[in-house]
Amino acid sequence: MKYVSTRGEAPGADFRTALLAGLAPDGGLYVPEAWPTFSPGEIAAFAGRPYAETAAAVVGRFTGDAIDPAALAKICAEAYATFNHPAVTPLTQLAPGRFLLELFHGPTLAFKDVAMQLLARLYDHVLAREGRTLTIVCATSGDTGGAAVEAFRGRSNIRIVALFPDGRISSVQRRYMTTADDANVACLAVDGTFDDCQAMLKEMFRDTQFARAVDLTGVNSINWARIAAQSVYYFAAAAALGAPHRKVAFTVPTGNFGDAFAGFAAHRMGLPIERIVAAVNGNDIIARAFAGGRYARGEVRATQSPAMDIQVASNFERLYFEAVGRDGAQTARAFRAFAAQGTIDIPPQALEAMRELLSGEAVDETETASVILSTLNETGNLVDPHTAVGLAAALRTTQDNPTTPMVVLSTAHPAKFPETVAAAAGVVPPAPRWAADLEARPERFEKAPADAEAAKAYIRRFVRA
Ligand SMILES: *Cc1c(COP(=O)(O)O)cnc(C)c1O
Repeated sequence: MKYVSTRGEAPGADFRTALLAGLAPDGGLYVPEAWPTFSPGEIAAFAGRPYAETAAAVVGRFTGDAIDPAALAKICAEAYATFNHPAVTPLTQLAPGRFLLELFHGPTLAFKDVAMQLLARLYDHVLAREGRTLTIVCATSGDTGGAAVEAFRGRSNIRIVALFPDGRISSVQRRYMTTADDANVACLAVDGTFDDCQAMLKEMFRDTQFARAVDLTGVNSINWARIAAQSVYYFAAAAALGAPHRKVAFTVPTGNFGDAFAGFAAHRMGLPIERIVAAVNGNDIIARAFAGGRYARGEVRATQSPAMDIQVASNFERLYFEAVGRDGAQTARAFRAFAAQGTIDIPPQALEAMRELLSGEAVDETETASVILSTLNETGNLVDPHTAVGLAAALRTTQDNPTTPMVVLSTAHPAKFPETVAAAAGVVPPAPRWAADLEARPERFEKAPADAEAAKAYIRRFVRA
């Protein structure tokens, strides 16, 4: 399996290179040169199989010759043994034809664990063979950092630096990063937004001298292996609900468009997905893009669903690349102009191609809170605010075919956002037993300005120490 850049100017790469590089050298994102596909029979056979086996089958199509199949099977088994539910990503039914896909049974209570537990072991496997040590810098809107720190802490061939927007994430989110006492972990509380953190990270990759000096790598959802890992639960859920004989629709709470793009990838691989609804909060760049054809950066606003407080959805570049017929030159032009001007006018044909599968719904703060309450009243389920954004969007969506099951991705455990859930529902969500001691652990982090140069200096010192 070979990988190409969405900007068409980087040499082809194997899985190993795409995994370790994160961003391609031309500033684009890696995508597979050709989509692997699954036959209807292969999809049907996923029903009832252990999650780790489905993961090995799906991810194996992307790793190709880079990872031995037996090693991959073992990596998947170990990664998903860290989950606290035997089904790993169980489905819960809320109403006729409406389901929650619970992605939060991992160590840090959010869906980021699904990819990160796998990624850490893939890195270990590849780096141990090469005897190299890399530095992961991770910009986080809250959940990626915790999942990455938890997955990579204590590993000998990796250092990890988490950049998070100070005061804009929940204390539970922060604690999953700052309470790791391993010497290979550093946390920077940035005086800015998530978009500032992401821009700082991009600048570090652009500075090739710095990137080489610290052996920089990235595990944000620009990393292809995360998309590959996340496409697995679309297969597992759809097969459990009757695919390929029956189509399934998904609603995905979205910020960086990584999780939703994983659904797009599953569709490209042959999974009969009828529709993917991208659910956003007031930071609605994606919903505006699908509705009006203009992808335009806005001001980031703080909401109850902070992991989605993003106005530059990095993975949108992958979708754009697909929608313009994989034209790297056109994608490069559009996204270089976007970096300078903050807008892209999506060509009409490309917009039409996107809309065949995707639509967007923006959900405001009042509706988010009221859906948390109504879901509790109607079903007895407490949901986190990100899941509530997804549920609100799904309730609003008129499906092409009303008998198609609608699966809402439940991206975090309610106990990860206890204040918001308690304010909306009047009930404090109990922390699951595997998170019970988090409040008692001491924290460790540094404050930093929203300035890439200052962060680089800090990281150089951390790497030398
Ligand atoms: C990261 C995150 C999202 C958004 O996922 P993207 O891949 O960035 O679209 C949604 N909900 C939660 C809880 C998250 O942590």
